[in-house]
Amino acid sequence: MLVDVSSVLKVEGESISVSGKVCFSQDSLSKAGPFFHDDVVFSGSITNIGNVLELKGNVGGTFTVLCARCMKELEKTFDIDFTELLVNSTDDVSDKDAVLVFEGHEIELDDIIESNILVNLSLKYLCSDDCKGLCPACGADRNVTDCDCGKDEIDPRMAGLKNLLIDE
Ligand SMILES: [Zn+2]
Ligand SMILES: [Zn+2]
Repeated sequence: MLVDVSSVLKVEGESISVSGKVCFSQDSLSKAGPFFHDDVVFSGSITNIGNVLELKGNVGGTFTVLCARCMKELEKTFDIDFTELLVNSTDDVSDKDAVLVFEGHEIELDDIIESNILVNLSLKYLCSDDCKGLCPACGADRNVTDCDCGKDEIDPRMAGLKNLLIDE
């Protein structure tokens, strides 16, 4: 979402409204997601608050993420309000760490919006709080089935061999 801010750049108090679909740079996402659906929409405004442009708005939509324990696909929605300060590279700003610097009179909003979404999402999602996860040995979904891994039973035919090894 590329926005032309030339109309607000020079006039303090001037504001434009911005809305549209958000495109994601897939390379910043991990294998477990989140995988954003194409319904993610931003709606907000860019206002000149004196040498600084204030980007303010709301972004919401749907994403798919894998349960951190059992890897089941979960569909989640989000709704985030955020504010970001933007400064033109030709303007003199004392505290460059608190603002995002842009060149020229156009701002690419997708990356800015994406990073605001990612800092607001949880790092882990679970299908339920008591998800039992996958067996680390055989990979069985323990919510669905009980595998025999980790049950420390010794086959009676092997017991003799075990004693032999211990006595050694
Ligand atoms: Zn799960
Ligand atoms: Zn198992």
